[in-house]
Amino acid sequence: MRIVFIGPPGAGKGTQSARLVEHLEVPHLSTGDILRQAREDKTDVGLMAAEFIDAGRLVPDSVVVEIVEERIQQPDCAQGCLFDGFPRTLAQAETLDTHLADHGTPIDLVIAVDVPEDVLIARLAARGRDDDILSAIQKRFEQYQSMTKPLLEYYQSKGLLQVVDGTGTPDEVFDRIKAVVDNAVDNA
Ligand code: ADP
Repeated sequence: MRIVFIGPPGAGKGTQSARLVEHLEVPHLSTGDILRQAREDKTDVGLMAAEFIDAGRLVPDSVVVEIVEERIQQPDCAQGCLFDGFPRTLAQAETLDTHLADHGTPIDLVIAVDVPEDVLIARLAARGRDDDILSAIQKRFEQYQSMTKPLLEYYQSKGLLQVVDGTGTPDEVFDRIKAVVDNAVDNA
């Protein structure tokens, strides 16, 4: 199973994808995690990405695409993986599709977690991660609206999109996600 997870900042993507990879027993491919690790390791990519992350801006497509293409060629991704936080732009989505098509391993399902904006802002304000200062939060919302939201239509038109209500407790949200995923597994 190859699943793409999409959600605005604060949608609980991180929490839910951690549960989902455990449920599906596939690797978790989080570009946010990979970029944060690269930053911690002070690699060139990490230091470059840090400036974008702190400003709440998307890291350039070429950088994340390279990271992802390298990661999905590792043997543990042969049976599938969960893409968390990637793709985030149409260009990323198209590049990923081309890559996966070349390898005969297309995306099976796209899950979009839907949460009203006032709930998102309240969650982010309470969380306080480094890149969670208010101006960066605002910027990340803007970037989500303008760059990432168009992906919903893109995947909808391919018949891959399932929207899941992301309000309620983490358990409630996960139950909804599991229902969608298990249904896709049954139909595969
Ligand atoms: P969240 O889901 O909370 O917004 P992530 O951990 O997915 O955060 O990503 C944190 C930051 O890393 C993003 O705000 C962005 O700057 C950068 N980033 C992560 N994934 C991508 C991507 N696919 N394209 C561009 N930038 C990315």
